[in-house]
Amino acid sequence: MTLERNHPTPAGMPDRHLQAMVLHREIAACTVCAPYLPLGPRPITQFSATSRILIIGQAPGSRVHASGVPWQDDSGERLREWTGLDPDVFYDPAKVALVPMGFCYPGKGAAGDAPPRPECAPLWHAPILELLPADRLTLLVGSYAQARYLPGDAGATLTERVRGFARFAPATFPTPHPSWRSVGWRNRNPWFDTELLPALRAAIRSRLAGA
Ligand code: SF4
Repeated sequence: MTLERNHPTPAGMPDRHLQAMVLHREIAACTVCAPYLPLGPRPITQFSATSRILIIGQAPGSRVHASGVPWQDDSGERLREWTGLDPDVFYDPAKVALVPMGFCYPGKGAAGDAPPRPECAPLWHAPILELLPADRLTLLVGSYAQARYLPGDAGATLTERVRGFARFAPATFPTPHPSWRSVGWRNRNPWFDTELLPALRAAIRSRLAGA
C-alpha cells in the first residue's frame, strides 16, 4: 500500500497520526537541496500530531548532523535551560515539535554555519503546522524564524523583537538563537532573565498541563 498524506483510516476518518508518519517518511526522503549540502541530506526534525510546544530554530550544526539528534549540542543545553524543559520532555514528540528553518546541515558560511537552506521552510513547514494542535505555543528561535513568522517586525532588530515579547505572548515567544554569542547578549539584556524567561516557562508549563 502506498501511504499518502490525508490517507483515510479503514474507518474512513483522517488519521492525524498516520499523516504524521507519512510526513516523516516524505521528509526523510527529501533531497531537494542535495547539490548545496556539503555532507548530503540528513533531515533532522521531531513532531507529532499532539505536539503543543513548537520550537522553530535555524538548522542543525555539524554535531547534530553526525548524531541525528536535534539540539544535542551546547545550543540545545542553553535552550533547555531557557525553557525549563528536561531532556525527557524536550525529546518527547508527543509534547514538543522541533522544526528548524532548514532540516539539514547547511555547511559552513563566512562566519559560522551557513544560513538554513531557503528551500526547506516553504516546502515542509505548512504541512507540519497544519498537523499540529491549533492551541500550540511557538518559540521563534533566532532571526530566520522571526523573519518568516513575524514579517511585520522585519525592520526591528532581534533585541527589539525579543524585548517586545509581550506583544506576541503567550502564544508566541521570539528568542535569540542560543549559540555561544547569546551568552554575552544575555548579560547585556538582564530583562531576558527577569521578564521573558519566567513568562516563557509559565506558558510552557501551562501548555504541558493542557491548559
Ligand atoms: S534542507 Fe529541507 S528541503 Fe533541503 S534537502 Fe534537507 S529536508 Fe529537503
